[in-house]
Amino acid sequence: MTEYDVIIVGYGPAGKVLARQLVDGGHKVAVVERWPEAYPLPRAIGYDHEIKRIFYAMGIARDVAAISRGMGHYVWYNADWKVLIDIDETRESISGGATGYTFNQPELEKILHEDLRRRDGISYHLGMEAIAARDAGDHIEVEIARFDAQSLRIDHSETRLLTGRYLVGCDGANSFVRRLMDVPVIDHGFDEAWLVVDVMPNDLEKLHIPDAAQWCNPARPTTIVPSGVRNRRFEFMLLPGEEPTQMCAADEVWELLAPWLSPDDGHLIRSATYRFRSLLTRGWRKGQMLLAGDAAHLMPPFMGQGMCAGLRDAWNLGWKLGLVLDGSVAESLLDSYEAERSPHVEAVIRISMAMGQVICVPDPEAARRRDEAFFAGIMPPPPVFPPLSDGIIARDADGKPMGFAGELLPHDDLVRDSSPVRLDDLAGRNFVLVTNVAVDDARLARLGVRQVLLGGAGWRDINGRLSHWLESHDAAAYLARPDFYAFGSAANSKEIDSLLEAFEGMMRGRDHVLNEVA
Ligand SMILES: Cc1cc2nc3c(=O)[nH]c(=O)nc-3n(C[C@H](O)[C@H](O)[C@H](O)COP(=O)(O)OP(=O)(O)OC[C@H]3O[C@@H](n4cnc5c(N)ncnc54)[C@H](O)[C@@H]3O)c2cc1C
Repeated sequence: MTEYDVIIVGYGPAGKVLARQLVDGGHKVAVVERWPEAYPLPRAIGYDHEIKRIFYAMGIARDVAAISRGMGHYVWYNADWKVLIDIDETRESISGGATGYTFNQPELEKILHEDLRRRDGISYHLGMEAIAARDAGDHIEVEIARFDAQSLRIDHSETRLLTGRYLVGCDGANSFVRRLMDVPVIDHGFDEAWLVVDVMPNDLEKLHIPDAAQWCNPARPTTIVPSGVRNRRFEFMLLPGEEPTQMCAADEVWELLAPWLSPDDGHLIRSATYRFRSLLTRGWRKGQMLLAGDAAHLMPPFMGQGMCAGLRDAWNLGWKLGLVLDGSVAESLLDSYEAERSPHVEAVIRISMAMGQVICVPDPEAARRRDEAFFAGIMPPPPVFPPLSDGIIARDADGKPMGFAGELLPHDDLVRDSSPVRLDDLAGRNFVLVTNVAVDDARLARLGVRQVLLGGAGWRDINGRLSHWLESHDAAAYLARPDFYAFGSAANSKEIDSLLEAFEGMMRGRDHVLNEVA
């Protein structure tokens, strides 16, 4: 018998979202975090529509909306401010609403923390550092010690031993849990040092600052983006010979900011240098230990996807750990976590690197050639995130995804006879069959699948996104997973039968994932 079901080391965004999923399922969670308070300095400034759905499913979307705003156009300019790429973040997404949003990471983490504080089942070990852990086969032991935030030292005189069934390392780029697991980290080769500056302007309206831009100026590649509702983020690539600590000094920073604002126009919130890297861990699970978030992968921030990837991890792992802890599936379900998430995040790392390689060009001649190529229309294709290609998706006899299995599915509001409801709210964190052909409820209930019947006496999707998906995919139904991805789709009643059989087979039979439930 262990004290906790899951011990989470690291209480950043990935740790917080995972903790919330687990306590919602009634599981006992311990979080261990070195710092007594959340990391106060801004890092992430952008999230996408899929992540917004996670906030909806957590019931915190309204609070997050209050600290966010829709992103405009994300425009990439050459040194002469001629447009190289224009990414329209306002375009309507399949989740409803815009594609991209800007926010401020400490404000989001505060919302996540306050939301968790209102819930039972979570034990906080803040100001404590995980210093050792042992996989004892049927449980995990984690030793924690007081971390002194003043001296930055660990106080070994105050330690405690926690026991849990699983340990998840959400402990960031220098993950302690990853080191314990002794798993390889693949370096995809991107490695650039940048100075990151956050500014609070006195009156943004009066300043002429591009809303969201990459200034691909070889003399000083520069990123200019919003940082939440009122602040601005500037990022400057460091050039050879520049010393990171010196570049953070206020004088240096104001000199770099001079084309856009002066000390009379606002104040500096912070300046720090970061190494933008592209790393992917192989082996996200070893026995009872798992990794999520930056502990499992790092990418340069040019697509604003590092935290988003960590939240996708937490959302994916959360429902799987929940089923395993409930005893309704075998532990082998957890092996699908890396199989699903790793190829997806690898694609996002590659896209982020490709975008980084457009801007990180300090050689004027190479920049001129890049500009010419872009103006001639020779440029990387628009970034598209891949579907899931492995794991808990319907597959044919050769193991290939069947039909539209693995695709991120649309969202819509639904109406029947009273006021509209969100599909998320109807679905909860369950598998859901969205169908225009009624299916036997008892059969679905036995599989733990909910049904959303469209048309006739069923629901009407207000913006037509679900019915449009079915129509454009020649499908009569799709089976959505708790994380909004398709287990699979079916063209007619017969195929719906096969789809449900495949689901049951994968969860219960062939792959022995789902244990028999009484
Ligand atoms: C300049 C910059 C811009 C970015 N922009 C974006 C963006 O626009 N969009 C986006 O999605 N992402 C962005 N990111 C990435 C994003 O900030 C990170 O991916 C995200 O914070 C990672 O979250 P995490 O929970 O995995 O790890 P972290 O937030 O790093 O949290 C890990 C926690 O673990 C704790 N910890 C570590 N070791 C121990 C231990 N042994 N014991 C106890 N606690 C421990 C740490 O103190 C830390 O609090 C950006 C990053 C940077 C640097």
